[in-house]
Amino acid sequence: MFDALLHDDEARIAALHRLSVLDTAVEEPFEKIVTLVRTVLSVPIATVTLVDRDRQWFKAKRGVDADQTPRSVSFCTHTIQQRAPFVVENADLDPRFAGTALVAGPPYVKSYAGIPLRTPEGYNVGALCAMDTRPRHFSPADLAILSNFANIVCDELELRLIAQVDHLTGALTRRGFVAQAEREIARARRYGRPSSLVMLDLDHFKSVNDTYGHPAGDRVLNHVAKIAGGALRPSDVFGRLGGEEFAILLPETAASDAVVVAERLRGAIAQSPVVLDGDIAIDVTASMGVAALGPEMTSFPQWLERADTMLYAAKAGGRNCTRMAA
Ligand code: GH3
Ligand code: MG
Ligand code: MG
Repeated sequence: MFDALLHDDEARIAALHRLSVLDTAVEEPFEKIVTLVRTVLSVPIATVTLVDRDRQWFKAKRGVDADQTPRSVSFCTHTIQQRAPFVVENADLDPRFAGTALVAGPPYVKSYAGIPLRTPEGYNVGALCAMDTRPRHFSPADLAILSNFANIVCDELELRLIAQVDHLTGALTRRGFVAQAEREIARARRYGRPSSLVMLDLDHFKSVNDTYGHPAGDRVLNHVAKIAGGALRPSDVFGRLGGEEFAILLPETAASDAVVVAERLRGAIAQSPVVLDGDIAIDVTASMGVAALGPEMTSFPQWLERADTMLYAAKAGGRNCTRMAA
């Protein structure tokens, strides 16, 4: 049967862009899935790949160094043209792939199985892929497992839209963060547990935009979010309150321990410049304000105000430093 949606690449790309997932930071659900695919199918390489107009970009990857590759050399561009799994058991024997960049060079793909990632509207926006550096057979059971994981990826792509995730950074939006913080206030008060809030504001960020342009500023925001993602625990909540201002909710954490977390993150940001094309390195620093949830605080704005006061103290104290509410 002719499937019109498989042949309208412009509409497919528009559907991909509506997901607002391209070039966002690492997110846990997708990380888990590629880890599972690797383990369950015993393959060295697994990716959640999104196929853009001229490139394929990896939302999650294991066993590949590149963040993206040209679409022209990709296996997935074939996968998205069909509804069924796309399998290549020996790339060296397949004239479409023998000698191409990903086969002849890193990561030296010799076999591939990809399941199309289909939006609810019916567009194939990418693929969940399992790859090996040796020729191999993928059994019907392997493909069934991979298809089940692909369904979870599709669900997650929908959920992250509803779940109030900031598209540039992958952090929670202000609304999403406030909702979590209010739940945390209720939980911490009910059980008499400690909880801390860190506010983070990038230093002299306006001059990054002024000097290197707004897209470079966006790169910096994404970069900082990635560092935070790597430095925090899964139970910590990371949000973008607006502009270049972020907040971290640390359940079960006293202010003195929250300062340690904030300082570690501050150090990691200061030590990791953003490198632009042309080898331009932008040094980035952030100021931090820390406040524990106090017994007198009944709503999030009170807590936020305390952390914000400390953030301003850090700015006044010379920036690139952390201040904690006494
Ligand atoms: P300070 O050290 O006192 O915090 O100085 P600052 O320059 O960081 O502070 P200011 O609040 O004056 O500037 C924040 C800038 O952030 C201004 C605004 O243009 C920029 N900005 C806000 N949202 C975005 C965004 O999404 N992308 C980019 N590139 N810039 C943004
Ligand atoms: Mg700032
Ligand atoms: Mg600011």
